[in-house]
Amino acid sequence: LTSTPTRSALHVIHIAAEMAPVAKVGGLGDVVTGLSKALQKKGHLVEIVLPKYDCMQYDLIHNLRALDVEVESYFDGQLYKNKIWVGAVEGLPVYFIEPYHPDKLFWRGQYYGENDDFKRFSFFSRAALELILQAGKKPDIIHCHDWQTAFVAPLYWDLYASKGLNSARISFTCHNFEYQGTAPARELASCGLDVSQLNRPDRMQDNSAHDRINAVKGAVVFSNIVTTVSPTYAQEVRTPEGGKGLHTTLNTHSKKFIGILNGIDTDTWNPATDSRIEVQYNSGDLQGKAANKQALRRHLGLLLSDSTRPLVGCITRLVPQKGVHLIRHAIYRTIELGGQFVLLGSSPVHHIQREFEGIANQFQHHDNVRLILKYDELLSRSIYAASDIFIIPSIFEPCGLTQMIAMRYGAIPVVRKTGGLNDSVFDVDDETIPHQFRNGFTFLSPDEQGFNGALDRAIQYYKNDRETWEQLVQKVMSMDFSWESSAEQYEELYAKSVTRAKATKRV
Ligand code: ADP
Repeated sequence: LTSTPTRSALHVIHIAAEMAPVAKVGGLGDVVTGLSKALQKKGHLVEIVLPKYDCMQYDLIHNLRALDVEVESYFDGQLYKNKIWVGAVEGLPVYFIEPYHPDKLFWRGQYYGENDDFKRFSFFSRAALELILQAGKKPDIIHCHDWQTAFVAPLYWDLYASKGLNSARISFTCHNFEYQGTAPARELASCGLDVSQLNRPDRMQDNSAHDRINAVKGAVVFSNIVTTVSPTYAQEVRTPEGGKGLHTTLNTHSKKFIGILNGIDTDTWNPATDSRIEVQYNSGDLQGKAANKQALRRHLGLLLSDSTRPLVGCITRLVPQKGVHLIRHAIYRTIELGGQFVLLGSSPVHHIQREFEGIANQFQHHDNVRLILKYDELLSRSIYAASDIFIIPSIFEPCGLTQMIAMRYGAIPVVRKTGGLNDSVFDVDDETIPHQFRNGFTFLSPDEQGFNGALDRAIQYYKNDRETWEQLVQKVMSMDFSWESSAEQYEELYAKSVTRAKATKRV
């Protein structure tokens, strides 16, 4: 007789600064929701703790209500009360923390970009652990994300494990090593951590400024599981060029460090059921896709008539990481090659925003180019549905979700071979890759010539051989970018870590 061991359900609590669709700035928000839903589907108990931002999309939180209890948490030598709210987002139970702090920490009209972000999120990290402790929860895994909640790892092991919150293993995912959460060392004391103990090279001291501490480094050192969002990026960040100063730390802790490719939430990103696009369609009905292209052209005032013109889309934060110089170049190159170009993007960097505003004005009434410089999820869906080609010329890209969403909506990606793009897009002309995996156009050299090598080929394919193009579109729409297999990898990591902890306790 053989028996399959039944894996017991785990209790996982994510502590995060973003969660789609209620509080989303970028990919982090998508991942927290996508991974949580996939784990919940597998039978695990998944809860999420978020700050209660004033600027969240409250209409997307179901049954939001305040709990009777208040949680007191320590900061800067005092105890502060926190009001705790609960609600459901996409079927997931979420706790929202509203601190009664005179600085109105999450009442700023934006998620990030405040001068006191370090304080806001170190406060939140501690309050979240306090909530878990005071609620008497016994999670198997506490999963924190990016620098904003990286404080959870040292706080847990230095303070909370001894307070009785000792059931958990700590998992940390870094979605982008560019953002590490550094500050003068003394600022760490505010959340109750011991600066003299932690401002050491083997703990939280920043690797290049010895009077500063580094939150992401702290989470790498103190977590049981450390992941990043693609296998290629996990390799890149272990090199001096890619690690943004943390490569030595990641190499020291390499045994617990792994790259797992993100999935996308295939329920929300599904052209067959997406009620927010003009016409729903699937890979068997590309007429529907063509109707969306016409609808977007009409909506943006672009030339309607010519069906041989490919629509090239780009949806992105406009930051240097995304290859803004190549995005700008792509506008002009697309016109030269007889295509239409639509950019949806916004930039937290003033000079980039200003530069693109200039370009947007220049093309305000152009037949074939439109730049929309804002964050707009609804419009993003129409652009994914309308695009034939989708560009992501990133200088580095930890995972990247837009290439996967684009493919799900039948837009062929043109990407630079880096990070997660390298793990999800394979060139149609690359003979070393089996046919069934080839799904886009790639280039390596981050300059105009390199980029042209991929964009030009894409546009030629589109124009010269429509039948092959349509087959490619159908193929990429059918590829599996769901969370299924990635969530399974997280599940395995969690389970192994929990088993190891139990074995150690027994000894
Ligand atoms: P990052 O997290 O670096 O911003 P990702 O590719 O991982 O990049 O995730 C970007 C996510 O944000 C995608 O879901 C994309 O559709 C969305 N997005 C980016 N810019 C905009 C925008 N201006 N309007 C709407 N959605 C956007």
